[in-house]
Formats: sequence, structure tokens, C-alpha cells
Amino acid sequence: MNRVRIPIALQQAVMRCLRAKLQLASQHFAREFPEPKIVYQQRGTSAGTAWLQAWEIRLNPVLLIENQQPFIDEVVPHELAHLLVFRQFGRVPPHGHEWRWMMESVLQVPASRTHQFAISSVQSKTFPYQCACQQHQLTVRRHNRVLRGESEYRCRQCGEKLRFFG
Ligand SMILES: [Zn+2]
Ligand SMILES: [Zn+2]
Repeated sequence: MNRVRIPIALQQAVMRCLRAKLQLASQHFAREFPEPKIVYQQRGTSAGTAWLQAWEIRLNPVLLIENQQPFIDEVVPHELAHLLVFRQFGRVPPHGHEWRWMMESVLQVPASRTHQFAISSVQSKTFPYQCACQQHQLTVRRHNRVLRGESEYRCRQCGEKLRFFG
């Protein structure tokens, strides 16, 4: 697992946004909500996920560092809204009208279902290989094994050994 260090100022900006939005929810529902735990462990291309039972928000550290405040403004309320909807309404469709209402009327942010961040740096890269009949894409792990001479891969159709061309 890649460990990415989040600068303290960025973590503080995340918590500022989280607490401000939580405050709006507390005012609206006239009750206190516990502060969700923020974990910087979201992997892959997702910006973040909400863990309803654990009352936890996982944020993608790479996308956070690359996008900074726009990421915070969009992803923190989005995931917090999932938690609040679960707490207030139980299990309902994830981006249904309860969630939209929570985003727009309670947290006062536009409700967009997906994030628009560039994800090239968190996409898994593949490497082009060729046999006699077609092109193949190998993962970075397999590609490295070929380069180190630890493995070779054959095409299931023609049986020929795959050769890297890059
Ligand atoms: Zn969502
Ligand atoms: Zn082939």
C-alpha cells in the first residue's frame, strides 16, 4: 500500500470543512452528531467513500493532494451527506432524493453524484504486449516480472510468448 503523507495544513482544512458542515446539520436537526472519523486510505480511482456503520469517511490521499481545496469542498460534504442520510433515514438509495436534499438544503452545496477530478495518477497503468494474433495489456506487476526475467506470459489463443513493445 502506498503511504502518502498529508500535510498538516491540508488535514486541518479537511477538518474545518467537516466541522462547518456538521454544524449546519446540527442546527438543522437541532441535535448533535458525533464527528466522523477521517481516514486517508481510499485507494484506486474513488475520491472518497462513506462507511455508514463505522461512521467513517475515507479520502483518497493522492487526489486530495493534487486537488486541495476543490477536493475538500466537494468530497467532504458528499461523503458526510451519506452518513447523515443513513443516521436520519436509514438505508435509502445512495444518491436518491434524501441525499440530494441533505446536500442542497442542509449542507448548502450543489449535489453532484460524481466527482470530476483528473484520475490519471491513480489509474493503474498497463503495458502493451504483442503475440502473433493480437495486442495484450499487462499490469505493472506482470510487466516488472517479465523485465526481471521471473515470468513469461503466453497468448491463450495462439500460444505464442508475449513480447513487450513500448
Ligand atoms: Zn456518493
Ligand atoms: Zn495470440
